[in-house]
Amino acid sequence: MTQYISIQKAMDKGSGKVSIRGWVHRERGSNKLKFITLRDSSNVIQCIFERQNFEKLWGDIDHLQVESSIMLTGEIKKEKRAPTGYELHVTDFQIVGKSDKFPISKDQSVEFLADNRHLWLRSLKMIAILKIRSTVFGAIDEYFKKEGFYEYHSPIFQAVQCEGGADLFSVDYFGKKDVFLGQTWQLYAEPAIFGLEKIYTISPSFRAEKSKTSRHLTEYWHAEMEIAWATFDEMINYGEGLLKHIIKKVVESNTKELESLGRDPKELEPTIKKPFIRMTYDDALKILKDKCKMTVQWGKDLRTVEEEKLTKLYNVPVIVTHYPKEVKAFYMTEDPDNSKVVWGCDFLAPEGHGEIIGGSHREPDIDKIKKRLRDDGEKLEEYEFYLDTRKYGSVPHAGFGLGVERVIKWICKLDNIKDTIPFPRTMERYKP
Ligand code: ATP
Ligand code: MG
Repeated sequence: MTQYISIQKAMDKGSGKVSIRGWVHRERGSNKLKFITLRDSSNVIQCIFERQNFEKLWGDIDHLQVESSIMLTGEIKKEKRAPTGYELHVTDFQIVGKSDKFPISKDQSVEFLADNRHLWLRSLKMIAILKIRSTVFGAIDEYFKKEGFYEYHSPIFQAVQCEGGADLFSVDYFGKKDVFLGQTWQLYAEPAIFGLEKIYTISPSFRAEKSKTSRHLTEYWHAEMEIAWATFDEMINYGEGLLKHIIKKVVESNTKELESLGRDPKELEPTIKKPFIRMTYDDALKILKDKCKMTVQWGKDLRTVEEEKLTKLYNVPVIVTHYPKEVKAFYMTEDPDNSKVVWGCDFLAPEGHGEIIGGSHREPDIDKIKKRLRDDGEKLEEYEFYLDTRKYGSVPHAGFGLGVERVIKWICKLDNIKDTIPFPRTMERYKP
């Protein structure tokens, strides 16, 4: 039986007879020669059919369309002029699946590509991004396991909310209407630290984001951690450690993909090597004023434009801490030295990409939590299970959530978050 190897392995071998299989990525020809660029998951290679060797089958070869799947055997050799430096002279072939005229060709609109997302996944751009995405997921898992965290799972159908009611997705749960898709695992994670102490997850989160921005999806993958006994700083150190690990893994494993996307891996190196910038919210306002000529009124959250300007000043992530209480969630610990601010932080990716992690130390005082829930108009009865975390052997604890697609957007230097996920979901799009 023929042993098929990947295109990359065939090129690594570099000479002699090889058998490869894949899809026709490009094709062109004359009545004597047919050139195809064959693609598999590993790479592309130029393949040449000579008519004199396939006189009887020339019709089939001549009609090979883009995206036909084929299996080829031939002699591989170095060829400087070929797109990936090698070329295969075909001696034998088999067409596995013919292709209709492929709808995607050059220069099509963003809308058209979104309608044909299932086909666009075959583009070299998407293949590169999805490979990096795979590395990122693996790196997150690896980091937390290495640091002694247990993987833990919260329900997705939830009946309490903690990131603001405005962007909840309700579901009809057997006629009951107070059920919605989780925006975060947090309220279901905190109860678990009493058993497991250090936990993490990578799970979808759902937010009915009504604004069109380049960094919001309605369904995104959320890497979250929660840790018992931790101080605010310890939690932040884990966030920094995690990002360094992710970037290190991607730079090690995906140089080729990064370069193909126009991202020089060197630009990511400071994140691996240098400490991140840490500043308070007050410092951030001062820097925005002095260096960016932007005035933010104290008490307002940093908007996308401000995060953009601020992070363009740095080549490593910026960690902003001590935000005003009003702009942050009810569960964040009030700073004992200044009750106007909380021990909450956002990690902002450099070069204008903005928030990638939101984290905090969790408020230990049950009365403060109750007051803030009431102020937010929440029904305390619904939170009883959560409030139990502060009744039975409460300990200081902290945690964060990282938006996986936001991190990929930054790593791949993309303008929009949509291309970081196979089938992006936004307010306007939920198909295909
Ligand atoms: P933003 O202010 O950008 O909407 P947020 O403050 O609502 O973010 P958190 O509630 O702190 O975000 O969520 C934790 C992390 O999840 C964020 O730091 C971000 O990386 C990611 N995230 C939040 N909302 C979205 C979204 N709609 N699409 C993709 N990622 C998101
Ligand atoms: Mg939000």
